Amino acid sequence: MSKETTTTQNDLQVIISHCKEYGFIFPSSEIYDGLGAVYDYGPYGVELKNNLQQYWWKAMVQLNENIVGIDAAIFMHPKTWKASGHVDAFNDPLIDNKDSKKRYRADVLIEDYVAKIEEKINKDVEKAEKKFGETFDKAMFLQTNPNVLRNREKADGINARFKAALEAGDLAEVRQIIVDLEIACPISGTRNWTEVRQFNLMFSTEVGSVAEEASTIYLRPETAQGIFVNFLNVLNTSRQRIPFGIAQVGKAFRNEIVARQFIFRTREFEQMEMQFFVRPGTEMEWYEKWKADRMKWHRSLGFPQEKLNYKDHLKVAHYANAAVDIEFAFPFGIKEIEGIHSRTDFDLTQHQNLSGKKLQYFDSELNQSYVPYVIETSIGLNRTFLALMCNGYKKEKLDGDNERVVLALPPFLAPVQIGIFPLVNKDGLSEKAEEIYNELKWDFKCFMEEKDSIGKRYRRMDAIGTPYCITVDHQTLEDNTVTIRERDTMKQDRINIEQLKQIVAERVDWKKGLR
Ligand code: ATP
Repeated sequence: MSKETTTTQNDLQVIISHCKEYGFIFPSSEIYDGLGAVYDYGPYGVELKNNLQQYWWKAMVQLNENIVGIDAAIFMHPKTWKASGHVDAFNDPLIDNKDSKKRYRADVLIEDYVAKIEEKINKDVEKAEKKFGETFDKAMFLQTNPNVLRNREKADGINARFKAALEAGDLAEVRQIIVDLEIACPISGTRNWTEVRQFNLMFSTEVGSVAEEASTIYLRPETAQGIFVNFLNVLNTSRQRIPFGIAQVGKAFRNEIVARQFIFRTREFEQMEMQFFVRPGTEMEWYEKWKADRMKWHRSLGFPQEKLNYKDHLKVAHYANAAVDIEFAFPFGIKEIEGIHSRTDFDLTQHQNLSGKKLQYFDSELNQSYVPYVIETSIGLNRTFLALMCNGYKKEKLDGDNERVVLALPPFLAPVQIGIFPLVNKDGLSEKAEEIYNELKWDFKCFMEEKDSIGKRYRRMDAIGTPYCITVDHQTLEDNTVTIRERDTMKQDRINIEQLKQIVAERVDWKKGLR
């Protein structure tokens, strides 16, 4: 990761304020002072979120003839979560600081500590890169520099000890690692820690109208299980043969110990998941394919490669035989936005055992039935939204003392694609602008405004990421031309109204990044 990726907590505050000011995201139930870590999406936020979701759906379902979609309910039979292992093992290790009474995830305290060591290594590399310029040999530096070697040994040592503790389920050892590393609570500054305890992340509620009949059900903690329990239904109705995938977008709920960093970690969020069913023994090929495909998709959002990263899991979940995260460099650190997991035949086998229904596939080439293996790609819609905001937000110095805030979103995701402005609100310019609006609104999300100076109107469009602004002036009435202004370059061209649709259509085309 390069140096631009490490920024400060303040930058997130800037993004949060921007989201509020421009109608992307509001705190939930704000008139009652809000509800911690719960957020609502405003007029521009919902457009961006919907566009992002549809873009994922198109990339998955429309572009892959062997992927189909479903939309399963949030409530599922309680046995689902017994079979999947969530009732027994969907836990996070929590630890409290006795002085501040603040609660933390023990694993996150250790991971953050290791991340700081990694940061030191990166800083040493950057310094040396600057010092030696073109002659710099990074691989050699990493292998020989004493500072780097010392930090590498330290980070690897902690990782190995932590991995062993997790694998053995040894919570006392997890606590001991925190004590030995002298990790202090950021609030109280003390190291007065409680024991580490496991905490189940599922929300439960009751269904049934009278207490005696009520039974406990869960809010789904992932959308994946809705796909597994529908495996046979989809197989029998979609004419798919293995390998094939099932995609789904929907809400998931986790009672996170610490929900923070804005919409990065919330207790209610949306996942976009795809489970890809393959012949046993071929799963690693598919795992590699999906790793590469998903990285390409992230790049198509305009994320530079140096802000993206693969990170293999230290300890794979109970259902997986390989797992990797795609990480993004947020202002508050390098964090997961998508998980890619080789889930083996764990889920289907578990559901088969608990339901008594055969969840198998007859492979006519092999003349054999089996429980398929599964590769999962699972991405957070809200986290990716946040990555788009963090990546796109820029404050630019212009001529003189002027500056502008511009949200460089990919044009195909922008909440508004065209701003349409009469230069002044008289002489028939507004009527002409309205005519253009009524023509273009069939193909694009447009916004028309007459108030304020044209400069102010451009700035507002820049701040919400609108790629094009069209201005109707007196010349328009004479020769049917308008000016079209491009967001990123601020360049203005004069074009005939007849050309508008085609020019904008080319620019906001979602296909370009994926071809
Ligand atoms: P983390 O380690 O950050 O808790 P996870 O590994 O538990 O995440 P997965 O179960 O792999 O996450 O879920 C897939 C994706 O769902 C994540 O990559 C993330 O984008 C999203 N996600 C998971 N938990 C949350 C949450 N509490 N809030 C927002 N998005 C989430």
